[in-house]
Amino acid sequence: MNTYKSRSDVPESEKWRLEDIYSSKEEWEAEITQITQMIEKLKHYDGMISNGSTLLGYLSENEKVSFKFNKVFAYAMLQVDSDTRNTSSQSLQDQVKQLGVKLNAATSFFLPFLLSLEESILKKYIDEEEGLNYFEKQLFETYRYKKHVLSKEKEEVLSQLGEALSSPSHTYGMMNNADIKFGKVTTEDGERVELTRGMYSKLIEHKDRTKRIEAYKAYYQPYLQLKNSIASTLAAAIKNNVTISRIRKYPSALEKALFSDDVPREVYENLIETTKKNIAPLHRYSEIRKEKLGIEELHQYDLSVPLVQDVEQEIPFDKAYDIMIKALAPLGEEYTKTLADFKDKRYIDVRETPGKRSGAYNLGVYGVHPFVLLNHRDNLSSLFTLAHEMGHAMHSHFSHHTQPQITAKYSIFVAEVASTVNEVLLIHYLLQHEENPNMKQYLLNHFIDKFKGTLFTQVMFAEFEMITHEKAENGVPLTSKVFSEIYESLFREYNGDSIVFDEEVQYGWARIPHFYRPFYVYKYATGSASAIHLADRILKGDQDTISAYLEFLKSGSSDYPLELLKKTGVDLTTPEPIQNALQQFAMLVDEFEKM
Ligand SMILES: [Zn+2]
Repeated sequence: MNTYKSRSDVPESEKWRLEDIYSSKEEWEAEITQITQMIEKLKHYDGMISNGSTLLGYLSENEKVSFKFNKVFAYAMLQVDSDTRNTSSQSLQDQVKQLGVKLNAATSFFLPFLLSLEESILKKYIDEEEGLNYFEKQLFETYRYKKHVLSKEKEEVLSQLGEALSSPSHTYGMMNNADIKFGKVTTEDGERVELTRGMYSKLIEHKDRTKRIEAYKAYYQPYLQLKNSIASTLAAAIKNNVTISRIRKYPSALEKALFSDDVPREVYENLIETTKKNIAPLHRYSEIRKEKLGIEELHQYDLSVPLVQDVEQEIPFDKAYDIMIKALAPLGEEYTKTLADFKDKRYIDVRETPGKRSGAYNLGVYGVHPFVLLNHRDNLSSLFTLAHEMGHAMHSHFSHHTQPQITAKYSIFVAEVASTVNEVLLIHYLLQHEENPNMKQYLLNHFIDKFKGTLFTQVMFAEFEMITHEKAENGVPLTSKVFSEIYESLFREYNGDSIVFDEEVQYGWARIPHFYRPFYVYKYATGSASAIHLADRILKGDQDTISAYLEFLKSGSSDYPLELLKKTGVDLTTPEPIQNALQQFAMLVDEFEKM
């Protein structure tokens, strides 16, 4: 495997070209100066918009500023992420932050102004100024919030309370990241050390059960100790969601959260109901797990260990890229040719180097191209990460090249579809071309576990959020005991009766940071279910689905997410796509069992 001591050792071909954004730091600085001047200009529109022409003037100028702002932002961010220790890059990022604050201040007048405008007047402005057609949809999209906006005084009160309202989430973050002390575990050398999250994710997959148990106990120890404090922060966060949704006249906290994507409540409920109706294969998988591991009792700490021991394969980056391109062939030449170019054009920063940001992401820069950060390790898991991130990058590329700036950026709701379709196509390709039966079994197991994590587990979390919010809406006090009862009964329902419960299981709610971002995780489940459904059609060679899917990748945010997906044949208001995805899961479990 290629390991590098410093960034300068990495070949140019495996580093991205920031010069594609600005040829030099001087050019970047000149842009900052220009943006600063443009922000001054924007300020002057406050109180001056009184007809179609001034409205257009403001919106056009604002769009130009945001185009440039995104570029200076990206340049600084990518530079910092390639070496977070570099102080001169950090200073670029600080400058962008300050600029962002200025930009926000200069444009903060506009939203209240727009919402205070009579609809008939807005329509009159649009009629008298042709150029406003381009902004029309976005203007009315903002207008959709009008019935949920309060009087000026009330809005001021709420905005002053903003920091206090976000305090439960902030406090939880501090507890969970800064103050938390996990228990001790024994290292390979026999030393007793404090568990870290990084260690936990490895140890809970360890083939030695005593290692798993030790890590499991050490991991949950602080959550058991802090259960009452964490219950209090979570209860406060939920109550805040409920109260704000009432003040803003939403039917419920759930509907407030779904409003921005224009997702009806039924989609959320349908996801949960359909999953629960098709839960049997997951229960069967728990049984298989118990058998395969050859244990008397299946515990929570037995649920993450791979059932087939790692068949480590070295896959160099160039080979990984080739495999990915071949695996994505069902999407057609336009897709694979464009994707092949991304490597040659150096859109990807491949290698792990000291100080580089961990993980992986895609950042689409409108008017330039996508930038992908990897920490590629020449193994199978890195191959999957590559296919995933390139899915995002292709989505950015297609949408940016097809859509005007205003609708170029896709929403989070649809984002994971593009990445997951690639992963599913990849696993199918690998399964088809793998000769070694052990490796095949390993791949299948990997896929089943991933499916479980992105679908079933997320649906379980989504249901937990729904139940707890409803309880708060009905005035039921939320305590550690209440949270634990709900969590434990859901865990049992989803994972089946073959699991023996340790005390720790019920405190799962205490360790999930996503619960402080209400009703968010269901998007992982709808995204992966949609992707699995689509990939199945694509693999069957359904040409209509393939062209509809490519259109979808080009559609950015030109419509609401559910509408965009509908055009690919995925209608999330019906049980069908979720059902199909779950049938796929059942088939995988069958196949795995046969092996
Ligand atoms: Zn992703």
